[in-house]
Amino acid sequence: MANRAYNFNAGPAALPLDVLQKVQGQFVEFENSGMSLMEMSHRGAIYEKVHFETESLLRELLSIPEGYKVLFLQGGASTQFAMIPMNLLRPGATASFVATGSWATKAIQEAKLFGETAIAASSESDSYKRIPSIGELNYAPDSAYLHITSNETIEGTQWSEFPDTGNVPLIGDMSSDILCRPIDVSKFAVIYAGAQKNLGPSGVTIVIIREELVAKPSTTVPTMLRYDTHAKNDSLYNTPPTFAIYMMGEVLKWIKSNGGAAGMEAINREKAALLYDTIDGSNGFYKGFAELGSRSLMNVTFTMQSKELEAQFIKESEAQGFVGLKGHRSVGGLRASIYNAVPLESVRALADFMRDFQNRNA
Ligand code: PMP
Repeated sequence: MANRAYNFNAGPAALPLDVLQKVQGQFVEFENSGMSLMEMSHRGAIYEKVHFETESLLRELLSIPEGYKVLFLQGGASTQFAMIPMNLLRPGATASFVATGSWATKAIQEAKLFGETAIAASSESDSYKRIPSIGELNYAPDSAYLHITSNETIEGTQWSEFPDTGNVPLIGDMSSDILCRPIDVSKFAVIYAGAQKNLGPSGVTIVIIREELVAKPSTTVPTMLRYDTHAKNDSLYNTPPTFAIYMMGEVLKWIKSNGGAAGMEAINREKAALLYDTIDGSNGFYKGFAELGSRSLMNVTFTMQSKELEAQFIKESEAQGFVGLKGHRSVGGLRASIYNAVPLESVRALADFMRDFQNRNA
């Protein structure tokens, strides 16, 4: 058995040990083909089977209704910040956004390169500690779309319910919480996510897009940045990241065997409660960053009384095998990313360490 760290990295992040070991067994030679999957053509039957199986697993696990294309793209979620307005923001139209934190802000900045943007609601004045309520949203009914970030990875906030936006297409950046719980895909026109937190390794980005939105964009959009290019070619227009897609398929099989999206939600709630209960039971030794109703199941952010104490916490935790607990440089403090593949035992160990550290330093 490998010597595994307690891995709380924000992404790329922990992968299921079972998956890593299974893939290790298939690494040098894939299914009696005489070669690794990485060495074979993306046009061959063996890879194509992996490709389409991965797509159908994603459709099954997210209960994606009819009428959506599922695309496997490259360039990370950051490229989607540009591809969305390039393809979906027509001249003269306005894209609306909910400004919830660091990643929403990046999406807004990028959209501004291509057209008009508007802010439907913002929690900037609350240091992005909360997700605005659905009642606070105020956007023009003729908006090209409304963009939300379902989980703010850096601040550690998460939407608990999604708005019904009627005729305004709802777009969700779900990079850091896709498949952490069941969702109603039909509320969304587009969902996108980099794989490297909940779905697999980095290198592939999934886009789930309503078919009618895959219309022809303006002719100046480069071929590779057009949704129709990839939709028409089943994400095989050019060479896809074959190994990343295969790994994602294996992670999806693991999610399926662990109860699918509902199974993930149950265990994710248990893991998150272990840490939030430790924070809330610490008499203020640990302070949660996010407001109660906006707390993320995926990224648990907290601070301590002083930067010195936080540095001491990081130092001691690292010595005990904990990795990735330093908060993002933009908000400071501490952050435990507890994506789907982070085992319950790692989270228990962290909660124990937190209590022990408090007993020694309070
Ligand atoms: N959106 C969110 C919510 C993220 O957490 C991240 C990555 N941390 C991104 C977008 C950017 O993703 P990528 O690095 O794949 O471009």
